[in-house]
Amino acid sequence: MKNGKCPLIYHPSYDIALPDTHRFPGTKYSLLIAELERTGLIKRYLKYIPKPATPENLSIAHAPSYIESVRTGNLTKQQQATLGLPWSEALKKRAFVAPSGTLLAAQLALQSRVACHAAGGTHHAHRHFGAGFCVFNDLAFAALAMVKLKLVKKVLILDCDVHQGDGTASILANDKEIFTCSIHCTENYPAKKAKSDLDLPVSKGAGDSEYLAIVNQGLLEIDRLHFYPDLVLYDAAVDVHRNDKLGLLDMSSDGIRERDELILSYFKKRCVPIVTTIGGGYGETREEVAQRHSIVFSAVQTVFGC
Ligand SMILES: [Zn+2]
Repeated sequence: MKNGKCPLIYHPSYDIALPDTHRFPGTKYSLLIAELERTGLIKRYLKYIPKPATPENLSIAHAPSYIESVRTGNLTKQQQATLGLPWSEALKKRAFVAPSGTLLAAQLALQSRVACHAAGGTHHAHRHFGAGFCVFNDLAFAALAMVKLKLVKKVLILDCDVHQGDGTASILANDKEIFTCSIHCTENYPAKKAKSDLDLPVSKGAGDSEYLAIVNQGLLEIDRLHFYPDLVLYDAAVDVHRNDKLGLLDMSSDGIRERDELILSYFKKRCVPIVTTIGGGYGETREEVAQRHSIVFSAVQTVFGC
């Protein structure tokens, strides 16, 4: 931690312009930074700007033919429909930068104990295709890269997005060094769930106490299975919120903060470096979503005292 500040990874290319009617809040990234500036939290962080990943870098997690279609703008109409986003130069740019943002956060977390990516959590992207607003899978990519670079031996991907981390689970299905845990609402997308190393389904309408009990159970279960990570990639998504437009749970903002603090404290106590990514969030307004995404930055400040 430099000067007592936590690393914050952000790139101006994260925003994508989409019509106002689009379900994906494409400008939530810069709005999140604006929210951190408004509350003064930004002063507790040191900003890092990631460089784009190369197609060769990304090929540890994705098929070269798919990477090439994204790079050259040759995604079919069907592929764009599954992705839920239209291809554009801006989308391409952010797609190549965001995964290396999570990797940079992972490298910085090894020195600082914690690092926060103001993007990431694109867990629906599979090896051969993008889905559910996710072009490339930053979580699978960063975990694989950290192991390949021999910076760590074992990585835990702890995914608390309301939607199951199906892409992450499928890319890493045969990987014993990386443990995938997804805590998600059974009734939410994707209809056909993949098999993570540990899936903890939450029933529709679950509130703070029910949800937090499941998170606690998940942490105990990972320990019981004797998986002891050297690094945690945490998807701190906020689409578990009761006012989320896509999520079907009934969590409050305080409940989300409690979840974040619980997870951060748990791994801090065990001296396991942790990366936070923002994951999904879909509100009535983009500002409201940005505000919810700022919770994890506040939780990191509380737990790590940056
Ligand atoms: Zn989600």
